[in-house]
Amino acid sequence: MGNTRFDVCAPGGIWGSQFQNSINNQIPKHELGTVAAWRKFFLGIPRRRSRAYFKQMAFVIVIGAGVSGLVCARKLQSAGVGVRVLEKSRSLGGRSASRQFEGAVIDTGAQYLSLGCESLLTEVQCLLGPNLCEIDLPLLDERMQVRPGGSRYFHREGNNRLGKALAQGLQVELEHQVTRIETGDRRVLVDGMECDAVVLSAPWTQSAALLGFETGTIYEPCLTAAFAYEGPPSGPGHIVYGLMGTDALAWSACENAKRGRVPDDLTMMIAQASPDFSVENFDQPPETWGAELREMIEMRWEIDPSRFRSQFTHRWKFSRRMAPSGGVDQLPAGCFVAGDSVCESRVESVWQSGASTAEAVMDWLSSGSA
Ligand SMILES: Cc1cc2nc3c(=O)[nH]c(=O)nc-3n(C[C@H](O)[C@H](O)[C@H](O)COP(=O)(O)OP(=O)(O)OC[C@H]3O[C@@H](n4cnc5c(N)ncnc54)[C@H](O)[C@@H]3O)c2cc1C
Repeated sequence: MGNTRFDVCAPGGIWGSQFQNSINNQIPKHELGTVAAWRKFFLGIPRRRSRAYFKQMAFVIVIGAGVSGLVCARKLQSAGVGVRVLEKSRSLGGRSASRQFEGAVIDTGAQYLSLGCESLLTEVQCLLGPNLCEIDLPLLDERMQVRPGGSRYFHREGNNRLGKALAQGLQVELEHQVTRIETGDRRVLVDGMECDAVVLSAPWTQSAALLGFETGTIYEPCLTAAFAYEGPPSGPGHIVYGLMGTDALAWSACENAKRGRVPDDLTMMIAQASPDFSVENFDQPPETWGAELREMIEMRWEIDPSRFRSQFTHRWKFSRRMAPSGGVDQLPAGCFVAGDSVCESRVESVWQSGASTAEAVMDWLSSGSA
């Protein structure tokens, strides 16, 4: 961490090797990444600093290694800001989640990326290269009409790979659940770690709790399941990618449409329950609601139940935001919010929100108000 930031002003810089030696003598190696150590070191240097200098000496903590947090962290780091990402879970990508199941890769969170903005498409293509693939089967809406809209993309090895690609070169600490944010006196403490700014990228319900704000129920839960069947897709499964629903089965899709993901002798179906069904069944055992979703999948997709092999279930407590997040305009100084707290719950939107939040943080740092 911090190498990019600190290298900017160390060797060969205005202070040269004398400065480097002085750093080596005064800051223990393990403290190189702490703002406190650097502030102590610089005590005595005149307060008046250039904007660029301040930005390069700044240290920002990003909470959450979902797409928005990682995009924000990358933009900050590439501008020379020191960044550390703290993620409570063991994996990267947040709700762009995938897993291995029955020898296939399935997306348990975001199903596909809609990259309507051309500059964003180019950016994602540069990041993922040939791993960014397009779904070439249609999606049907509630009236069984082909749903219009632009291309739908997926990562060949699982949409969670987007998080892995974004995290390359960043310092990310997994299994660190942030529990405390303190602000005041022109500084921010995140679990006791001092920084110049903090970016909260978790769903607003979680971010608001860290800031001590009250929220109502503003996120929909989503019960989701994957069902594996013997044999290749038949019925609509080989000509349609997904079906939107109006009943308990709000979304269903055949993962085989994501070419290269599912073994040839298997059909892999994904089911997402409606918000009402999810609320009603959230605390019920997965076998109960899983069986109901499975029945609906078999009926809608004309799958012979005797082909059933196994199922995987997952409960998303905060899947999509359904109401505006109040309070994001009253954040304490040095606190910023990215992700679907401030935009639509779509990968494309949270990506852009991560980028614009990084801009806002840099403005704040450059203005010297931190
Ligand atoms: C079932 C489902 C299907 C979806 N389908 C689509 C789709 O097809 N297309 C689409 O574009 N979008 C889809 N979405 C929405 C999309 O996945 C999300 O909008 C997007 O991934 C959110 O990204 P984010 O970075 O804002 O938040 P997240 O991905 O939620 O990232 C936030 C991160 O913060 C971490 N965190 C939370 N609290 C703390 C804490 N205290 N300390 C440290 N870390 C913390 C979390 O573990 C998480 O990793 C879907 C979502 C779900 C759940």
